[in-house]
Amino acid sequence: MATHECAYCNADVAEAPVPPASDDAGWSALASTHAEDCEWIATRAHRIVEAAKRYIAVAGQDAGSCEALRWAWASIRPYVLATGDDEDDVRARAEQAAGHDDIHVEAC
Ligand SMILES: [Zn+2]
Repeated sequence: MATHECAYCNADVAEAPVPPASDDAGWSALASTHAEDCEWIATRAHRIVEAAKRYIAVAGQDAGSCEALRWAWASIRPYVLATGDDEDDVRARAEQAAGHDDIHVEAC
């Protein structure tokens, strides 16, 4: 099987498809072949961080406003769906990664 060096942790890993951000089992299996603190694994190939950045960027300073959050989520939803991920799961992970505990769209 072909291998390559991870650009983040330098581990020699087998070439494999990147699982969706919501695939816990898939990422758990991949993690076993990378260093414990590998950034690529921690961010799930930056998919979580990307979703969080987009979400927070569009919500801007108005994160307390339900209207702003609904609009923000609507604007990044196509991106989340395009990655094949479960949207509720990605939204929860994005909010967690962004450190914005105040963001709760469901409560709006
Ligand atoms: Zn790695």
